[in-house]
Amino acid sequence: MINVEDFWAECKDALSTSFQTIVYEVWIEKLKPVCFVDNNFVLSTIALQAKRTIENKYLDRIKDIVVSKNSSISDVVIILESQVSEYLEKQTELQKSEVVTEQQPSKQVKKNQFLDKYTFDTFVEGKSNEYALAACRTVAENLGTKFNPLFIYSGVGLGKTHLLHAIGNHTYKQAPKSNVVYVSAETLVNELISVIRSKSAEDNNNFREKYRSCDLLMIDDIQFLIGKDATQDAFFHIFNDLYHANKQIILTSDRSPKDLTTLEDRLRTRFSWGLTVDIQAPDMETRVAILKNKAAQSKFSLSDDVAEFIAENSTSNIREMEGLLNKIVFFSSLSNTVITTRELAAEALSDFIDDKKDTIDTSDIVGAVCKYYKISTDDIFSKKKTKNIVEPRMVAIYLITELLPTPLVQIGEIFGGRDHTTIIHARDKITDEIKTNPRVRITVADIKNMLLNR
Ligand code: ADP
Ligand code: MG
Repeated sequence: MINVEDFWAECKDALSTSFQTIVYEVWIEKLKPVCFVDNNFVLSTIALQAKRTIENKYLDRIKDIVVSKNSSISDVVIILESQVSEYLEKQTELQKSEVVTEQQPSKQVKKNQFLDKYTFDTFVEGKSNEYALAACRTVAENLGTKFNPLFIYSGVGLGKTHLLHAIGNHTYKQAPKSNVVYVSAETLVNELISVIRSKSAEDNNNFREKYRSCDLLMIDDIQFLIGKDATQDAFFHIFNDLYHANKQIILTSDRSPKDLTTLEDRLRTRFSWGLTVDIQAPDMETRVAILKNKAAQSKFSLSDDVAEFIAENSTSNIREMEGLLNKIVFFSSLSNTVITTRELAAEALSDFIDDKKDTIDTSDIVGAVCKYYKISTDDIFSKKKTKNIVEPRMVAIYLITELLPTPLVQIGEIFGGRDHTTIIHARDKITDEIKTNPRVRITVADIKNMLLNR
């Protein structure tokens, strides 16, 4: 059993970096942990007004962070400090009555631990995620019979956990009695450690039973098993049992099975037995669609200009992008006027967006690319068509189109009077290569890092 105080301290670390300092200090830091009830984490606050403000404005984000720390928690509840003892008493009574009803033969329906807001309906489809989404939908409809295991990988904040919750929600809707187990690999490791420590046969049995009796097992962030040999071993056996019983297994990771290099080979090969899909960073259009969707969910009227401004300034992590949107919502509520223009959005977000971008120009990009590929700037602007020059030239063009608002015609002029269709071709070629060729993807990421971390 986790200790509430320790758990809250751990959450607070993450919360303090996720919220603006003033918001954190005024509203969040003073919350007190009360207990875990069912799958809820209960916190208390002194004043009713604070409870309301937190519930209206910050609770969703607090929940996200709490859940990311322990995925067996499905909700965060705020109560008033004056009600704590009453609340605890009521819980004890409820637990007593549950013990009585448990003796009845009816199979207890497990509580849906998945967040309501993470469903297939709220997941915005785009080129970057269409395969992953299709695979998840297919698997949710055909548990254990289509793609087993399903392995989803992507960089952080691109929707893996959202998809797992969507599958969980879907499964519970179709068959409320399903036995779905969803844990982060970190939780799995912690559970196993406590079972080993407790040396109790009962704990051991419960652990085995939990994992081996499920119809659907979802483990989030499996890369966390790297270096955890005992858990890898335990998981290997769970995997085999479930797999041979045709139970569905879904795993997510920050890299492909092939790149989980230090994971035991026998696990890695098993991970690729079914289907492996990845999620790429979303394009501009998808990012804007996601922002609109999130804004609509929180009933915030988001103007096109502001949506585009946010999407332009956050390209590779949707969680981060949502953070920017939340700040716009927050500042709008502070000033009682909805931020609708780019200028106001830029002002509100000035502390949070990477202003290094503003100081980059085409010559910085060309310079970084030439340095990386060890070629001269004369060559990159020349008409030479040798392979060692063509790729850097296309990468430079791609990065200019991605990082700067420079019009295509003007980019053509910079590159020795090339036609704008040539520029489009170069941009699209690298966009494709990034998806299919890991070497190019890494090259582009490295050059971008060079530019943004100067
Ligand atoms: P990951 O698990 O890959 O790190 P998450 O699933 O936690 O990422 O996603 C981070 C945030 O981005 C979540 O709030 C999620 O709802 C949102 N998100 C990611 N992809 C999409 C999408 N395609 N449509 C809507 N929201 C998305
Ligand atoms: Mg995740």
